[in-house]
Amino acid sequence: MARIVLLGAPGAGKGTQAALLKEKYNLPHISTGDIFRANIREGTPLGVKVKAIIDKGELVPDELTVALVKDRLAMPDCEKGYILDGFPRTIAQAEALESFSSVDMAINIAVDDEAVIRRIAGRRMCKCGETYHTSTYGADECAKCGSKLYQRDDDREEVVRERLRVYDRQTKPLIEFYAKRGVLHTIDGNKGVEATFRLVSEVIDGRH
Ligand code: AMP
Repeated sequence: MARIVLLGAPGAGKGTQAALLKEKYNLPHISTGDIFRANIREGTPLGVKVKAIIDKGELVPDELTVALVKDRLAMPDCEKGYILDGFPRTIAQAEALESFSSVDMAINIAVDDEAVIRRIAGRRMCKCGETYHTSTYGADECAKCGSKLYQRDDDREEVVRERLRVYDRQTKPLIEFYAKRGVLHTIDGNKGVEATFRLVSEVIDGRH
């Protein structure tokens, strides 16, 4: 059973690693950010509710986010485990998660601050879920589905700064939270996608 939480600042590479892990370990990748963005794109009531909050770089209220994740984890594909990416983001969310699931490992992807800003500035997304970086991918269309790539609204510099402040204040304390529970593994996320993936896989395989 692998119930995995990925921790790390915005731009640490959680989404990239989660997508690779999903393939390798055949676990569902649950990204609250992706769920919110899909709802915004489709104009659902949830999307309408959260758009302004996300555009400012603030956090969606805990009750709403927790309810969403609780429903998702109750689905049959999560019986064998899951990869949570972007949740929990506050101590209250982590405590709520404990009431309906137990986390086997929290993998903290540690990256330097300058790398985070650089990565986010070049990040490009596709609506199919693929992500790219301008430093390694020059085209405007997705290699998988051909749709036009776009930059997330909240990847603009002033919003990124607010997201990093929110991370420091609200999310960073989770490192201590999971350390106390004996499930924290911190790995170096500065060395590129492949090297990071090797380290994350080692943790999951019990070799780290
Ligand atoms: P992400 O794609 O994980 O960077 O999330 C994008 C945005 O969605 C965040 O900046 C928040 O506004 C919102 N969001 C995603 N996950 C959460 C969460 N667990 N709690 C509150 N807000 C969230």
